[in-house]
Amino acid sequence: MPRALITGVSGQTGSYLAENLLARGWEVHGIQRDDAPDPAIPERVVPHTADLVDFPAVRRVVDEVEPDVTVNLAALSSVAVAWARPLEVAQLNGTAVANLLDAVRSLPDRPGARRGFVQASSAEMFGQAAESPQSETTPIAPVNPYGASKAYAHALVGAYRAAGLRASSVILYNHESPRRPEAFVTRKITAGVARISRGEQSELVLGNLDARRDWGWAPDYAEAMARIAQSLTEGDTASADFVVATGESHTIRDFVAAAFAAAGIDDWQHLVRVDPQFVRPTDATEMRGDAGRIRHALGWAPTKTFDAVVAAMVAADLEP
Ligand code: GDP
Repeated sequence: MPRALITGVSGQTGSYLAENLLARGWEVHGIQRDDAPDPAIPERVVPHTADLVDFPAVRRVVDEVEPDVTVNLAALSSVAVAWARPLEVAQLNGTAVANLLDAVRSLPDRPGARRGFVQASSAEMFGQAAESPQSETTPIAPVNPYGASKAYAHALVGAYRAAGLRASSVILYNHESPRRPEAFVTRKITAGVARISRGEQSELVLGNLDARRDWGWAPDYAEAMARIAQSLTEGDTASADFVVATGESHTIRDFVAAAFAAAGIDDWQHLVRVDPQFVRPTDATEMRGDAGRIRHALGWAPTKTFDAVVAAMVAADLEP
């Protein structure tokens, strides 16, 4: 039974990934920041306490667990928040990954043990990409502190791979679900639309409505990472970078329209207001990914359309 160690296990993608690997029969360990039991961590995950920026504490967990595959999903994951906390984002998304990689590389070899490492990279590394869709070979040119921190970690994973570690960077595009916090625009919209339909909120106040993003279903992205983890325990196929995306892009305005439609509200234009407070200093015009490599290597494909993602999130937020 392979053993995984997941950082960020209480987050949206970490919790779906833990459930996915447990269903595959894996033993799953997770790193959490506080001692208190976290209800967001799936049952049967073995919890370990360490702050990712407490480097010796993280190394102790890695040494104790001796994972076959370590998956790094811990991050300050909001671009909006990263502008306000650039040092924290550099430490948590950047140097903490160096520590984790070094801890995994330092594990003693044991017969049959194949150490793997999976890093959650981000489409934000491409910045204002000159080409669309983007792929694993698109130049990396971030335009915000979040993208810059992810670019550093991405480069580092490449270096450890070149030095012999079985390591994969998964370049994730926006992935959404009812577990998405409201700091992200999709959940802000679906939770807001649900409150508007119940008469608890009068309007949606948003930023840039014209940006185009490639929005997928978070459990599909967890499935992609699970396939990579599985493959890393079996051979070198997955020791590479992989874009995980749907290949389609839609504007934030499209998302708003689909969310109101899913809630049965036809006349919604007067319910949406733009406030400069939510407009970012820089914002990529279009992010759209080409997932051809992972489709060919591991047979992965998204299972939900854009409309189905929006409808599932609105339905969950409308539940009493
Ligand atoms: P990100 O792509 O990881 O930064 O995910 P977000 O969901 O935070 O942002 C996605 C897009 O929505 C970006 O282009 C934002 O500029 C845009 N956006 C527009 N209004 C809002 C808002 O009110 N909140 C957030 N978080 N993003 C917004």
